[in-house]
Amino acid sequence: MITKIDHLGIAVRSLDEAVPYYENALGLKCEHREEVASQKVRTAFFTAGETHIELLEPTSPDSPIAKFLEKNPAGGVHHVAFATTDIGGQLKQAAGAGVKLIHEVPFEGAAGKLVAFLHPKSTYGVLTELCAPKA
Ligand code: ZN
Repeated sequence: MITKIDHLGIAVRSLDEAVPYYENALGLKCEHREEVASQKVRTAFFTAGETHIELLEPTSPDSPIAKFLEKNPAGGVHHVAFATTDIGGQLKQAAGAGVKLIHEVPFEGAAGKLVAFLHPKSTYGVLTELCAPKA
């Protein structure tokens, strides 16, 4: 079951440039920074109520975020992540509904969560992440 929007993933060229905007203009606090080697990104997390903001900076030209920034030079919303209580069941449900999965098997993302992505060609243009606490 999906319980909430866990976070919005936002692509930025530079965490060092973007973090002060969230801190100074919006008054949010950067709570966590982490490099996710498997996705070739550095991340910074903010909390806005029940939802988080995940800033994503590429660490390599072949990072998915570097490719996104080629198409969207100013950066922008990269993905929407839903929290689910059962990531395996959620993936089965999506696949059963005809959705193309990017990951059939969840992997460890930022903050030690299990994550998997649905292909934007199947989700009306929104790269969709499912995430669950690691059991
Ligand atoms: Zn994410």
